[in-house]
Amino acid sequence: MSGRFEGRSALVTGGGRGIGAATAMRFAAEGATVVISDLDVEPAEAVAAGIRSAGGTALAVACDVTERLGVEALVNRAVKEYGGLDILVTCAGILRDNLIHKMTDSDWDLVIDTHLKGTFLCAQAAQRVMVPARRGKMVFLSSNSALGNRGQANYSAAKAGIQGIARTLAIELGPFNINVNAVAPGFIETRMTQAVAERTGIDYADLKKAAAERTPLRRIGRPEDIAGVISFLCSDDASFVTGQTIYATGGP
Ligand code: NDP
Repeated sequence: MSGRFEGRSALVTGGGRGIGAATAMRFAAEGATVVISDLDVEPAEAVAAGIRSAGGTALAVACDVTERLGVEALVNRAVKEYGGLDILVTCAGILRDNLIHKMTDSDWDLVIDTHLKGTFLCAQAAQRVMVPARRGKMVFLSSNSALGNRGQANYSAAKAGIQGIARTLAIELGPFNINVNAVAPGFIETRMTQAVAERTGIDYADLKKAAAERTPLRRIGRPEDIAGVISFLCSDDASFVTGQTIYATGGP
């Protein structure tokens, strides 16, 4: 399996933590050069340093995915450093959960901007490089919450919308040999789910145990579980797969 991404360059947003960090490390372990981007450069740099010390090639860049100019500069930097861009994975994400009667405009706007507009801006900037090259892979992070989840009207709308973007871009960019897919994880052990526990006052161990009990595979997910699905979708093994959303939830 090693070397599957040899000679390819990948950009991972939200790559400083959780699923994005695991994905960046997986790509690097399989030979890709990786640009790791996050809101703050420190966590991204920590992941990049880990990759470099393991013999890989990685660069950390701070970028807010809601800012057009920042996203365009990020993609330009990736191209300048590594000579092109073969893979885009959008993991940048936040939660602002609230029941509908308590959800504020800022809860709504921040979540929609980060997930939906962020995906739009990153995909738009990446396709400018991928279309002339006549090759590329994009994977966007959706969520099981796209199917509906209490307290997540904003997040559910964004994550369902991301599936629509993936299907639409698969149609628009397919003629240019660009695959566009989404992955919809269930409960994954990351800072995001830890923050849910902190906010709701539930002990994180109890929250994880309850999630595992209602999951057919009887466990919660690890970031590496999702990195494996993302790397499959970005590999040549999935070259005839596009416009799909793969649910990776430990159950149907
Ligand atoms: P993490 O919180 O561990 O990582 C997300 C990263 O995105 C953080 O480093 C965060 O920075 C960064 N980020 C937030 N806003 C922005 C922004 N505007 N621009 C750039 N980066 C930003 O989350 P996960 O790894 O758990 O989640 C990764 C993706 O997977 C997200 O899209 C999430 O919605 C999705 N997902 C996660 C699930 C889970 O159970 N964990 C389940 C289903 C989907 P900071 O920490 O500074 O805010």
